[in-house]
Amino acid sequence: MKKTLMFMCLLLNLAFARDVIMVSVPMQKEFVEKIAGDSYNVVSLVVPGVNPHDFEPKASEIRKVNEAVAYFSIGIEFEEVWLPRFASQNQKMQIYDSSANIQRINFWQKDTEHEHNAHDEHDHGDTHIWLSPSNAKIIAKNIFEGLKKLNPKQDYSKGYNALIAEIDAIDKELKMILKDLPEHQKFVVFHPMLGYFARDYHLEEISIEVEGKSPKMQEMIEVIETIKRENLKVIFAQPEFSTKAAEFIAKESGAKLGFFSPLQTPWGENLLNFAKTLTSF
Ligand SMILES: [Zn+2]
Repeated sequence: MKKTLMFMCLLLNLAFARDVIMVSVPMQKEFVEKIAGDSYNVVSLVVPGVNPHDFEPKASEIRKVNEAVAYFSIGIEFEEVWLPRFASQNQKMQIYDSSANIQRINFWQKDTEHEHNAHDEHDHGDTHIWLSPSNAKIIAKNIFEGLKKLNPKQDYSKGYNALIAEIDAIDKELKMILKDLPEHQKFVVFHPMLGYFARDYHLEEISIEVEGKSPKMQEMIEVIETIKRENLKVIFAQPEFSTKAAEFIAKESGAKLGFFSPLQTPWGENLLNFAKTLTSF
């Protein structure tokens, strides 16, 4: 009797154990799930609260990758070192690039004299490509194409079309919220992450920290002066980093302190919240 029961449990487990798909950031998890429904167990390596730029997977996370049938990459720094290792350890795992056909841009290198450095192999540009609805549509398409290759028998077009419609609706709502801001309105963030967003909505991002380097006092003073001169109302800190520099600048400049995490989901709601905070003061 006991043996039969154990056997039944094992069968049930096998029937309900879903294939694992790994992704790098939570937005990709949301998108895979929206396109594929609940047919896969989707796991994001980086979760909110973790700095994705110096991320190192734990042993338990590596074990998870070793079970996975597919990995959707996004082009964030740790993939450069870890994806080849994941691929050699789990050779059955399919790897699909969610960032295909998206050009990464270095928004903080403005002067032309440094232009040749922009192609430096260590220069990733802004890796937060997912924080822009126009890029998000390309990411959705890449994930859709990857899922079709992974499981050609399944029709994913319903979930995909619904996701594209959702992204279009978010874009429309963002335009509504931001419509009263002057063209090239500046906004201040601690960590440079909204370059593509600024490009899409004709805004200008001022970042305090660049490429993981803490700001020098002189740089902070320049930001404080810009905030006062341009009458900027809010400065965005990020929960994944120390908020001390942002707090100091807010205090000295009189701007309000806002928060934004590039890892928060639902993706659309996160961007809408950013736009609402930006326009609420
Ligand atoms: Zn970042």
